[in-house]
Amino acid sequence: MDKVLNIPQYEMNEEQEKKEILRKYRALLRALKPKLKPGDKEHVRAAFEMAVEAHKDMRRKSGEPYILHPIAVATICVEEIGLGVRSTICALLHDTVEDTDVTLEEIQREFGSEIAKIVDGLTKIANVIDTNLSKQAENFRKILLTLTDDPRVILIKLADRLHNMRTLESMKREKQLKIASETIYVYAPLAHRMGLYNIKTELEDLAMKYMEPDSYKYIAQKLDNTKRERTRYINDFIRPLKEKLTKANFKFEIYGRPKSIHSIWNKMKKKGVTFEEVYDLFAIRIILDSPPEKEKEDCWKVYSLVTDEYIPAPERLRDWLSNPKSNGYEALHTTVMGPHGKWVEVQIRTQRMNDIAEKGLAAHWKYKEGNSEENRFDKWFQQIRDVLSNPEANSVDFLQDFKLSFLAEEIYVYTPKGDIKMLPVGSSALDFAFSIHTKIGESCIGAKVNHKLVPISHKLRSGDQIEIITSSKQKPKAEWLKFVVTTKAKTKIKDSLKEEKRKIGEEGKAALVKKLESLHIPATQQQFEEIASYFKINSSLDLFYEIAIKKIDLTEMKSWSYNGDKIVFPKQDKPGLDDKGDKPLSKKDTELIIFGESSDKIMYSLANCCKPIPGDDVFGFITQGEGLKIHRTNCPNAARLLANYGHRVVKTKWVKNKEISFLTGIKIIGLDDVGVINKITNLISGTLKININALTIEAKEGVFEGNLKVYVHDKEELETLVEELLKLPGIEKVERFDSEPSP
Ligand code: MN
Repeated sequence: MDKVLNIPQYEMNEEQEKKEILRKYRALLRALKPKLKPGDKEHVRAAFEMAVEAHKDMRRKSGEPYILHPIAVATICVEEIGLGVRSTICALLHDTVEDTDVTLEEIQREFGSEIAKIVDGLTKIANVIDTNLSKQAENFRKILLTLTDDPRVILIKLADRLHNMRTLESMKREKQLKIASETIYVYAPLAHRMGLYNIKTELEDLAMKYMEPDSYKYIAQKLDNTKRERTRYINDFIRPLKEKLTKANFKFEIYGRPKSIHSIWNKMKKKGVTFEEVYDLFAIRIILDSPPEKEKEDCWKVYSLVTDEYIPAPERLRDWLSNPKSNGYEALHTTVMGPHGKWVEVQIRTQRMNDIAEKGLAAHWKYKEGNSEENRFDKWFQQIRDVLSNPEANSVDFLQDFKLSFLAEEIYVYTPKGDIKMLPVGSSALDFAFSIHTKIGESCIGAKVNHKLVPISHKLRSGDQIEIITSSKQKPKAEWLKFVVTTKAKTKIKDSLKEEKRKIGEEGKAALVKKLESLHIPATQQQFEEIASYFKINSSLDLFYEIAIKKIDLTEMKSWSYNGDKIVFPKQDKPGLDDKGDKPLSKKDTELIIFGESSDKIMYSLANCCKPIPGDDVFGFITQGEGLKIHRTNCPNAARLLANYGHRVVKTKWVKNKEISFLTGIKIIGLDDVGVINKITNLISGTLKININALTIEAKEGVFEGNLKVYVHDKEELETLVEELLKLPGIEKVERFDSEPSP
């Protein structure tokens, strides 16, 4: 799983380096061999030579010759994604235009326009996440346009990212965090979308290794310790199935596969369980060698044999045979009760399906010929094209929206007529309404989900059948944006709100013009902008609106005058409408010193979303208008911030200071008992002398859940507290809770 835990210190002389480069290049050619047609080899060679020459004076951070990187990327393209000759050429050249003197024209002259276009696409992606946010969104949009033209761009880019992640060790810590965050934020979901499960999993694991090193090591260690036991269990589980399948004359492979560290960790966090409590640390995979016409039938036959041996949990059957995922994934998943009452996931698929699961899009094309089924990728690309063609889409929210909308896992829901619709996980009834038609979305007042009346914010689940209820009096509202996730719904709601605002604003504009005339101040766009900036409002449109809804009082303007060039505003206190930022920094907070790149004292505040305390792994984030905010690196918002605004991240470190304490939350779960509150409070404020800020306890059916807010000095103190609490009789679980319901 983790292919490069340690990169050996780089030591080679020039002669050895040359040999190494050639050795790697020959290995690439060997992998490519089945796809080589006459004349291809010369082209690949020419690309290799061009790349060698272009990168000849460059080295990677690890010290290796740079050329080893493009060779590695090309090898991943061939071996792990299943791409062919042209992609190999592009991969070899992918960093030349960006980083060397080679021009796109030279590539075009030498290799033709198809390859030049892909290399151009790859060059454009290179800086996407580095630049400022709006430019980044714009670039990302461009990539997606290239992607819909030629998806090989994104496949090669994923190979590039994978190799960079595999060799991240030699980078500086900030760089590691930034690259890892982008990976988790954009590239892993993209790999998933492209159906590249292995690459997605590896990207996630590698990102976690840098973002959450402690949890990563903890789980890796645990997995290692339990390996023998697990292997024995898997063998016991598989044995009777092997017999049955052999007897039924199936040609098959069966094996147990460990789940990724990242997915185990996700489960631990999501369900709030310990490593020991995660039951599916592995899955059993059965891969059948079946002729195309018998695939589905065979899979179900095997399902039947498996469930004859082990009892299935009916609610956990996933049939992606009849309804493949939109990234092309096909398989039958079931969870059965194995020996010793353990639940075990079994995945059944054919060799063809397995190829698609591993090599995704590229393999999908291979099988496309002769397959009359509509291409799900084409459909997906079409949806992207639709969104991209919307001029609103270049807003800075685009990346976020796009991610939620196109890179999320999906659910399947049904119209009353039984038509199937795919929506991203987290979609509401309102998203569904907009997915049917903009008019239906805009006039939606409620829905019936499985014949039960629900509000428009109701979150949908796979298998739901939805009927939308509309009213001609309904109008889109700003709150709606909080519970839609699809880009389409968001864009349409925003459009409608903007239009509404513009209409209301006309009244405000008229009033303002009148007022200005009475003051002998000209009323042109220039003045509107001066006034807007005086009130710290973004646009004149907003200004008119604020005036119309009386948030700005025109009588305040009576002391304004005009000097023939600019409006003269009164000097004293600007009103400023956007004082809604966080509470001012408390005195306590500002006393702590945190060192950034320089060791100056910096004003900072602690992020509310993750409430860091000294000892936590943290980073500083320069906010607009609120100074430096300190987040934990495992904050739920960290990946988004690091990926989108890498340039605003600064390295921060705690300085030991016993004078200051920090508020943090702890959740305690245990068996209800009359004395329990006393025991907890005695321990905390009596024995440990920690101040309690708030304590709520809720008991239900013999189990209680306590939420506690305490002041601690650092992580160590918190850990001691947790340990001591766990020693109390009846207490089952104690954990820190990071985040308030997100702001
Ligand atoms: Mn590269």
